[in-house]
Amino acid sequence: MSRFWSRVVNDLTPYVPGEQPKLANLIKLNTNENPYPPSPKVREAIQAELGDDAARLRLYPDPNADRLKAAIARQHQLSPGQIFVGNGSDEVLAHVFMALLKHEQPILFPDITYSFYPVYCGLYGIDYRTVALSEDFTIAPADYAQPNGGIIFPNPNAPTGCPLDLAAIEQMLKANPASVVVVDEAYIDFGGASAIPLIAHYDNLLVIHTLSKSRSLAGLRVGFALGHPALIEALERVKNSFNSYPLDRLAIVGAVAAIEDEAHFEKTRLAVIATRRTLSAELAELGFEVLPSAANFIFARHPRHDAAGLAQALRARSIIVRHFKLPRIDQFLRISIGTDGECQALTAALRQILS
Ligand SMILES: *Cc1c(COP(=O)(O)O)cnc(C)c1O
Repeated sequence: MSRFWSRVVNDLTPYVPGEQPKLANLIKLNTNENPYPPSPKVREAIQAELGDDAARLRLYPDPNADRLKAAIARQHQLSPGQIFVGNGSDEVLAHVFMALLKHEQPILFPDITYSFYPVYCGLYGIDYRTVALSEDFTIAPADYAQPNGGIIFPNPNAPTGCPLDLAAIEQMLKANPASVVVVDEAYIDFGGASAIPLIAHYDNLLVIHTLSKSRSLAGLRVGFALGHPALIEALERVKNSFNSYPLDRLAIVGAVAAIEDEAHFEKTRLAVIATRRTLSAELAELGFEVLPSAANFIFARHPRHDAAGLAQALRARSIIVRHFKLPRIDQFLRISIGTDGECQALTAALRQILS
């Protein structure tokens, strides 16, 4: 605290991201990064953009990232006017809260969800009301039929990994024609059904994607939003009042290369899904209750072992997973899907700890 701080900064409760340890040789299963490298075409594209002397870095990037919007439009059969791109989906989400969710009524999101949502509400002075997940930790769409200034949830949800089907999402869109319904699809490529086909039918739907998870590019910072051109224009207005160049030259060409390499994407995404299946079965065998995950992580609890204690014991064996000290989920561990070898090391360590 300092007397120089603005009132807004005094009142902020910032988001705390998962730890990025400086130690080498840790098995890092705590921030849902992809265990596989990105497409080799990403490196080629970035090197080509740099050239021999990096002279192009003298010049500002395209403020509209038109090449990237064109690649995303091709991939999802949309028009560039239905696409907004930003510096990671966290930045895209920030603009969404400012541009489309700040209204008279409180917005709605699940009680157990991505913990950045309440942080944006704090930053922008947006009222919110949380809606409790069902006993089985799934979203109950009927509970969102109440007055609101907007709705946001991840699908699959985080940190539960539980997916919501398209009929349920359509039910929410129909029940809330005067609100924007934001579906944060950070993990959709690992098993859920994307709401993108509904964009043609609902002008109140906004879908958020990121290259951080399924494209192995958390370090490049690229995310995007898809929806009706009027929603996209709102985001462009905020972006152009904040930073003209959220995506640098290397991010734009790297993202295009990643999106265009379908074969690499399919191979790595299917490998993560296969490992998730194996790991879920092995944890169940060790006595864990594992929520059915459609994401690149699993959420599991052991009926006889305290989650914080397990996380600590794993850490002592150089394996880090995520534990949230929050109501309803403080006995769960969120475990990112690593390589087969990393997941085998995890189950071996747990077997030791539990015995
Ligand atoms: C990882 C994640 C994001 C943020 O992704 P970035 O593009 O890396 O900023 C957004 N929403 C959810 C639910 C996530 O898990």
